[in-house]
Amino acid sequence: MPIRFFNTYSREIEDFRAIAPPAVKMYTCGPTVYNHAHIGNFRAYVFEDLLQRHLEASGFQVHRVMNLTDVDDKTIRNSRAAGQPLDQFTRQFKEAFFEDLRTLRIEPAAEFPAATEPRFIERMIGMIRELENQGIGYQADDASVYFRLSRFPEYGRLAHLNLDELRPTGRISNDEYEKESVGDFALWKAWDEADGDVGWDSPWGRGRPGWHIECSAMATALLGPEIDIHCGGVDNIFPHHEAEIAQSESCTGKKFVRYWLHCAHLMVQGQKMAKSAGNFYTLRDLTSLGWTGRELRYALISVNYRLPLNFTFEGLAGARSALARIDEWGARLTALAGSEDRASSHPLAGQARFQEALDDDLNISGALGHLFDTIRESNRLMDQHQFAAADARALLNDWSKINKILAFDADAADIPAEIQALLDARALARKGKDWAASDQLRDQLAALGWEVKDTKEGQRVTPRAS
Ligand SMILES: [Zn+2]
Repeated sequence: MPIRFFNTYSREIEDFRAIAPPAVKMYTCGPTVYNHAHIGNFRAYVFEDLLQRHLEASGFQVHRVMNLTDVDDKTIRNSRAAGQPLDQFTRQFKEAFFEDLRTLRIEPAAEFPAATEPRFIERMIGMIRELENQGIGYQADDASVYFRLSRFPEYGRLAHLNLDELRPTGRISNDEYEKESVGDFALWKAWDEADGDVGWDSPWGRGRPGWHIECSAMATALLGPEIDIHCGGVDNIFPHHEAEIAQSESCTGKKFVRYWLHCAHLMVQGQKMAKSAGNFYTLRDLTSLGWTGRELRYALISVNYRLPLNFTFEGLAGARSALARIDEWGARLTALAGSEDRASSHPLAGQARFQEALDDDLNISGALGHLFDTIRESNRLMDQHQFAAADARALLNDWSKINKILAFDADAADIPAEIQALLDARALARKGKDWAASDQLRDQLAALGWEVKDTKEGQRVTPRAS
């Protein structure tokens, strides 16, 4: 069965055919580095990671580019409020973003271009010049350069907007505007006082690029005029991706993207995430509450990407116990795999069913369902002593392939802060030979789902199935 994806452009499930297999060129819109990314952003990045890992497990060689938007309305506004030069202000959030990617075990993209790199600014200016030469770009009275929508009749096709029914609202210079407003969008924004000392010289005077042209320039510079897969969140579809198509295709004359994949929204406790609603979380907010990167990865990855994800603390607790089950099962298989051999009696094909589910538009909930079926069935056979060492080895081999996609393995960095605090207290109690306190802390850890063993090297802790 071929890999199939829902293509936003056609609104249909399509077989995936790469332009030049096994190579796959993938562009994913990255963060605007004006503060810490929130878990809604990370849902999209985790989905893109699952997509890349599944394609790679299927034999493709993915070259993924993720841009960093380090100049736009928001970065300028916040850097000025912080009283810092733009590059210094955005650098801290770029670094924090890379740390967050590591926490969530997201494979780094092959390239992370930043909009303000001189080679890209130069390219943006070059593309705008080309659009101007074609009569598509025009400089208005306010000295900014706009894209003339009437010159790109396909505008609105990705978002399935019927532009005839929408009243154009003239020109729009800010980076983000409401879905209902359709107007010529800015390619180049003339400098104004709100920009402070941010600006570049151009044929149209001092100014800065619009957000949309940044992505068109970086994508085509690094991946060429034709891209296999372009991803983002559903809120990127309009106007951002629509504008990317209009700009790129007008400049290159080629079809910009074959497959558009968009990740649905994330809600928190059933509500839209908003600072005003008190349910707004960055990744750091959640790790400081004791949730590990791997638990958060599980919670973000385990709902099919086209469905809204309702992020809850009960869901996180569920992720924790699901991972504990996987850990316990893996430990059990490993112990059995090393035991005396018997002929294979119950081969379980976990991997093939897992991969097939993902082939079907990344059906991760189906794939995880197969995984837990396999866990249940093999646990039952092990309980009945009907599972041979060879079966365990085969299943572990399956699991290591599946886990290349999931990246769910436990590691020391995954010990939550609250657990680490109890471990530290226990180490102190043992140092002071307070065995009663030590035992009490061991029980407390056990109640939280963590098993402590005392070894020559000190305490060793493993999560237990609850
Ligand atoms: Zn973009």
